[in-house]
Amino acid sequence: EEREERWVYINGKYFRKDEAKVSVFDHGFLYGDGVFEGIRVYDGNVFRLKEHLERLYDSAKSIMLKIPMTMEEMQQAVVDAVRKNGLRDAYIRLVVSRGAGSLSLDPESCSDPQVIIIVDQVRLFSQELYDNGLPIVTVPTRRNIPDALNPKIKSLNYLNNILVKIEANRAGVGEALMLNEDGYVAEGSGDNIFIVKKGVLYTPPGYVGALEGITRKAIMDLADQLGYPVKEQPFTRHDVYIADEAFLTGTAAEVIAVVEVDGRQIGTGKPGPITRSLLEAFRKLVRVDGVQVYPEVSAASQL
Ligand code: PMP
Repeated sequence: EEREERWVYINGKYFRKDEAKVSVFDHGFLYGDGVFEGIRVYDGNVFRLKEHLERLYDSAKSIMLKIPMTMEEMQQAVVDAVRKNGLRDAYIRLVVSRGAGSLSLDPESCSDPQVIIIVDQVRLFSQELYDNGLPIVTVPTRRNIPDALNPKIKSLNYLNNILVKIEANRAGVGEALMLNEDGYVAEGSGDNIFIVKKGVLYTPPGYVGALEGITRKAIMDLADQLGYPVKEQPFTRHDVYIADEAFLTGTAAEVIAVVEVDGRQIGTGKPGPITRSLLEAFRKLVRVDGVQVYPEVSAASQL
């Protein structure tokens, strides 16, 4: 564990990690009122930063939260925060909360949204799980229905996901799948799901009740380039059980094979060839498709 100092951006100022604080009256804390993004930096490249910012601003618009800076200013703030922390490989947590207000849930009592950028290192799953694949389960907790809180909004209200994570923990597995109210597979607690059947990839469409993941989109693009057809189509638990391959995608999870679901072995019980080729292509893509934090270094390394 490296003992380097970390700097956290709060509303245009930097604070040391242990001094980075927001008010207990912040409605992000009191009510989960806010939006966020998780973003990765690979070798100085902020992977698909523009796409993350578009999703952040879309989420904020949907909950009528006015982010107090333009998308260009936000992009610069994110890049600066990574530089300030001197990291080439990092995880960025970008949070915009409604800000401090009264104890009433009324957002009109909040005057100043808080913009927070945390840059740190992350490791979600062990190398062992990337090599051998992940056993998962489906859980009784269903995905929020879109008319209640649309799963396309990446809001600070993650209780639905946390309940799923608790069920995964109790089952002794690293991730779990939620179904939507009609019994179609929606997504994991913090990642999207793909299955492979007879050379075709399937992933649930957003309307089933999934976040439209940036990694999910990157995998769809790569599948296209590698010649694997992709269908955004609802499917059930049964379809997952009988799939040839399955994998999860997410900023923290990247691409990780699923080798067992509810005790059913998926395919051969090992990460499948299409999953492995997509992971390999993904690892190349993440170093180039995004915004460079240290353009001077990248230019020099070209020589
Ligand atoms: N679904 C949920 C519920 C998530 O929290 C995440 C992580 N942001 C994802 C899917 C994957 O999205 P992305 O690839 O953009 O990280």
